[in-house]
Amino acid sequence: MSVETQKKTMGFQAEVKQLLHLMIHSLYSNKEIFLRELISNASDAVDKLRFEVLSKPELLENNATLKIRIGFDKSSKTVMIEDNGIGMSREDAITHLGTIAKSGTVDFMKNLSGDQKKDSQLIGQFGVGFYSAFIVADKVEVFSRCGGLDSSKGVYWSSKGDGEFEVATIHKADRGTRIVLHLKAGEDEFTNGYHLRNIIKKYSDHIALPIELPKERETTESEEKPIQEWEVVNRASALWTRPRTELKDEEYQEFYKHITHDYENPLTWSHNKVEGKLEYSSLLYVPARAPFDLYQREAPKGPKLYVQRVFVMDQAESFLPMYLRFIKGVIDSSDLSLNVSREILQKDPIIDSMKSALTKRVLDMLEKLAKNNPKKYKDFWKNFGQVMKEGPAEDSSNKEKIASLLRFASTRAQDGEQVLSLTEYLASAPESQNKIYYLTGETYAQVKNSPHLEVFRKKNIEVLLLTDRIDEWLMSYLNEFDGIAFIDVARGDLDLGNLDSEEEKKKAEEVAKSKESLAERIKIALDDAVSEVRVSHRLTDSPAILAIGKQDLGIQMRQILEASGQKIPDSKPIFEFNPAHPLIERLSGEQNEERFRELSYILFDQATLAAGDSLKDPVAYVSRLNKLLVELSV
Ligand code: ADP
Ligand code: MG
Repeated sequence: MSVETQKKTMGFQAEVKQLLHLMIHSLYSNKEIFLRELISNASDAVDKLRFEVLSKPELLENNATLKIRIGFDKSSKTVMIEDNGIGMSREDAITHLGTIAKSGTVDFMKNLSGDQKKDSQLIGQFGVGFYSAFIVADKVEVFSRCGGLDSSKGVYWSSKGDGEFEVATIHKADRGTRIVLHLKAGEDEFTNGYHLRNIIKKYSDHIALPIELPKERETTESEEKPIQEWEVVNRASALWTRPRTELKDEEYQEFYKHITHDYENPLTWSHNKVEGKLEYSSLLYVPARAPFDLYQREAPKGPKLYVQRVFVMDQAESFLPMYLRFIKGVIDSSDLSLNVSREILQKDPIIDSMKSALTKRVLDMLEKLAKNNPKKYKDFWKNFGQVMKEGPAEDSSNKEKIASLLRFASTRAQDGEQVLSLTEYLASAPESQNKIYYLTGETYAQVKNSPHLEVFRKKNIEVLLLTDRIDEWLMSYLNEFDGIAFIDVARGDLDLGNLDSEEEKKKAEEVAKSKESLAERIKIALDDAVSEVRVSHRLTDSPAILAIGKQDLGIQMRQILEASGQKIPDSKPIFEFNPAHPLIERLSGEQNEERFRELSYILFDQATLAAGDSLKDPVAYVSRLNKLLVELSV
């Protein structure tokens, strides 16, 4: 660096002084970010050069290998960050390193309350940039020269961060910027190559530019002046910034493993670049296997967040809804500040619109997987189906799309595997069917033989069988799919719609009328245990069945609420009987009121058991049944 001329001392803009003061007080617990900020600036400077070179190739000046170098010297306690990017002119240095140019920033500073503690917290959430050098340095020197300018037109800038800075014109042979930090007492860790390397790996691995550190080597006595050798310490390529067409599957897979530490390949991924009002890239993956802590509230979730290729945070959970918490990947935004915090992310309207776009991307990716690779989708469903079922409740705007991704067991498939989509269900339904029928219960074994299915078996209508713990809750959020209503076959007065002919309906009405007095008799016998007694049109083989009131909680929901210690609203089932069944015929002929009551209770308790519920008084049931058996055998 040669002779300095035109030396001048200038004062910082008032806001810069304020910023410097606050930064030093608020960011001391996270000092290392200065390196991230300075590397980010160096990378920006190289980006700018790259862009300018497109029209002015002479700016490259025989110095075409674009890179960043981080040097350090233990004896002088300095760290150096050097780039061969666009560089700064004297005027650039005065304005960019002496004032705050960014719009909004000055407004932000004006809004600071003056309460140091509060302001310190605010400043940490805000882009600190170049001035962060003063967190660790008590003197910062900048040597720079613009690409294309004569080597005599370099600039020297220096400051102790105390309110003023000095500029001078210097001779600088190579294009670009060198920043020298004179470390404060106690900041020696930043002259440790190993430590610097770790910081670079942590924050700047995917800066699309080689970042070099001096190679650690033994110096031999005989060497008078050891030749400095450099090695690249970062990956030097931000995979997601490269065009999709250029990337091989293997590269995507390797990157996935790198960011997740997963040893298995992902099931699928989606890589996109969004331009326009918001600018960001996203690379999102579906893992092959569910993590063990998928259901733990505090488990890590959300993609990694980069701002212009600089790593900002892991697990940026604000970018995807909870039910997509298993998605891994990277978001790289051009609209956020490098110092954006979780708190800011939660409030920022930009994030809301990114979140809804990213959610759609993930749902599209899953739809595509289901269409193109049903086998893989089956794996996906096994691992993450339960979590997807949280979707309709959390994300009502995508309800229909999520519903189309759900997979069910049904009365048609014999093994209880969840493989049927609603679209397939409807496609194979008869013309006359205008409802989606389902039954919830504890286990597949229990529901598949439920008496509620008898009429459907007779009419050969498929019924979805839902036996996951979350299912009844899920169905309370799903009212229809493709305009077709869901009907719980165990609930209310079963509406078979057009599946019953006019003739059948008329006949059913007649039967119900003729059995009115029997229904009343049973209601008196069962008294408090039921809300209603009526003739059933869902039964062919069983004598009786319990239906849940339209608005009442089902067994699953009741058990979940019970387990969480909540008070459950009182509700009584509807008792439906099959007048054609011999037991009901026998009941109807019973003259002894006491025995009529006993028999009614046995039928009621049996229906309770068949519904998968437990008896309130099992001993009473057993003794009634035994009494009946004794009578039979006499
Ligand atoms: P930001 O990067 O958000 O613009 P900074 O405080 O980090 O804010 O940097 C302020 C400005 O200083 C930059 O916009 C740039 O014009 C200039 N600058 C900083 N570092 C460099 C560099 N290494 N090369 C060229 N210009 C730089
Ligand atoms: Mg910056």
